[in-house]
Amino acid sequence: MTSPFFERIVVVGLGLIGSSLARAIKRGGLAGTLVGVDASTAVRARAEALGFADRVLADPAAAAAGADLVVLATPVGAYRAIGEALAPALKAGAILSDVGSVKGAVVKMLAPLMPPGTHLIPAHPVAGTEHSGPDAGFAELFEGRWCIVTPPAGADPAAIEKVAELWRRVGMKVEAMDPAHHDLVLAITSHLPHLIAYNIVGTADDLEAVTKSEVIKFAAGGFRDFTRIAASDPVMWRDVFLNNREAVLEMLGRFTEDLTALQRAIRWGDGAALEALFTRTRAIRRSIIDAGQADPEEQKRRDDAAAAAARNAAARR
Ligand code: NAP
Repeated sequence: MTSPFFERIVVVGLGLIGSSLARAIKRGGLAGTLVGVDASTAVRARAEALGFADRVLADPAAAAAGADLVVLATPVGAYRAIGEALAPALKAGAILSDVGSVKGAVVKMLAPLMPPGTHLIPAHPVAGTEHSGPDAGFAELFEGRWCIVTPPAGADPAAIEKVAELWRRVGMKVEAMDPAHHDLVLAITSHLPHLIAYNIVGTADDLEAVTKSEVIKFAAGGFRDFTRIAASDPVMWRDVFLNNREAVLEMLGRFTEDLTALQRAIRWGDGAALEALFTRTRAIRRSIIDAGQADPEEQKRRDDAAAAAARNAAARR
């Protein structure tokens, strides 16, 4: 019998991402023993009922003792306390990783806590939904998506490769990145879009001249899409903005300048400027779809449409 990829894996935080990872690890037989940890009694009870971990514990230090890999999957704001509790329990050679949406702050928080001979290899699986909790997770969440591994300078290449390979085995494509660069890229591709969604939905909710029932009744495609993003977990996103402050403020500055230019174009009736921008942005949407990175429903609609077109063409022949 072949040995599992890791003997003992611990996942701390059994919500959307932690429980999806646990399910994918179990499906792939990648751990000899998979231990789940969560601070919430209700989440632990659900995790036990759903059965995606071999054991479910409350104490991260007890779980981490003897672990080969520990993955933090809680909101980033909880990392420091969890790291302080579990790092002293890590055995020599153990890897501490995570799934957090920010990376520079995570390295700064966790690196000083690591005992000698252990490895800190943070990662960010860029996959998710607006749902939270252990019931929202599913093993296929990571398939075909990118995982960004962000090892601190001087990290052990074998430990980096081991973490990268785990994510490949749950279906992801992997790229390595400097933590600060990761934070800049994600500030524009993920953090700012969430901030804009939270803001536009908040603005609509605050309007006095338009009633709430009108906003809901006439929610057209654009607003509806923003409400989906703005339904994302409040604690997780609070922690993203508190821990990626510099990069988000930098991108927000750029965004505000560009928005002012658009405001000018509308005020002065500069249709050519508006049309030029909207044409450029449409091409970006096409490249995301062509790269297979559109949302799963859109991708499925596209695949179904292509299959139907092929069937029709065959029938006409
Ligand atoms: P989630 O569904 O809310 O799950 C987080 C879990 O961690 C909850 O069960 C929570 O329990 C638990 N928790 C909180 N503090 C804890 C502590 N001190 N010790 C142990 N467990 C604790 O959130 P998620 O969406 O999976 O996000 C988890 C991480 O993944 C975040 O760092 C986020 O940045 C990252 N991430 C998220 C996405 C996404 O799209 N959602 C994508 C990529 C990466 P309670 O419910 O009781 O608080």
